[in-house]
Amino acid sequence: MLRRIRDRFVAIAGFASVVTVGALIPVREARSAEQKSDATSPFAVVLGTAQDGGLPQIGGRAPEDEAARRDPKRGRLVASLLVVDPVSKERFLIDATPDLPRQVDLADEVAPRSPSSARPPLFDAIALTHAHVGHYAGLIHLGREAYGAAGQRVLASDRMARFLETNGPWDLLVKAKHVAIERIVPDAAVKLNARLTLTPIAVPHRDEYSDTFGFIVAGPARKLLWLPDIDKWEKWDRRVEDVIASVDVAYVDGTFFDGDELPGRAMSEVPHPFITESMARFTSLPARERSKIVFVHLNHTNAAAAPDSKARRAVERVGMRIARDGERAGL
Ligand SMILES: [Zn+2]
Ligand SMILES: [Zn+2]
Repeated sequence: MLRRIRDRFVAIAGFASVVTVGALIPVREARSAEQKSDATSPFAVVLGTAQDGGLPQIGGRAPEDEAARRDPKRGRLVASLLVVDPVSKERFLIDATPDLPRQVDLADEVAPRSPSSARPPLFDAIALTHAHVGHYAGLIHLGREAYGAAGQRVLASDRMARFLETNGPWDLLVKAKHVAIERIVPDAAVKLNARLTLTPIAVPHRDEYSDTFGFIVAGPARKLLWLPDIDKWEKWDRRVEDVIASVDVAYVDGTFFDGDELPGRAMSEVPHPFITESMARFTSLPARERSKIVFVHLNHTNAAAAPDSKARRAVERVGMRIARDGERAGL
């Protein structure tokens, strides 16, 4: 089973390549990015690129659901990011998705744990963006019924932490010390280790149970933005262009391609910047800025999820791209 998952992942990701980020960066620039990375450089791996429901989605009848059922290589795991320091052998995870068991297998492939104990901590820390199912529900696997983690370090906002501490079944993880939650606050960099920092940034989103963070991950050479969920760019108290300018690669909310995707449902109930809106907004940026933009967190209805789709080509024509499961970015 693991081999099957891995083969699929390798097939999608092209894991053999050193750095796959910036597929559309002009070749000379892409080469220099690769040259900056070597076997000792920290890096990030995109462990999933789908919206909370994954692809195929339960009961989903969109063309990409059917395509992913026919050909598992077309499937996408729920959006999450692995951050690895190959020197210290530490590994960190952003978001515990419902696909966590498979994503731990994938993390073991690219960043194996030293077998120090029977059940080593799965990650040196798991940072959570918010309390929507795709982003934290994987924590359920850390309890006694499954992994039985011992003090897994979890980084979360105060509101997210309180949600976990005061609602079942999550409170049992806290009481039984399967997780050890540390509060993190917006704009305060968390030192993950000597070479890596993680900075939460607050973003507007449907905050029923928690507030919502994006993260900036900074390594010795490069910075990365991970921002899977935001309501609309205009609702943010900062200019997304400034944030993009401050990083080398920007994974941003690409949930929906446009406004016609959810027949029978009001899209105002689930606000996101449509990819078409983002393309229009970012089109005046210089090519170098546009080449940083990678759309992630794709809904199963998103036409740009399909390779060779008109939607995908439209994104690539304006110098941006769609994230692939398994792609790497040097830090
Ligand atoms: Zn989400
Ligand atoms: Zn959300």
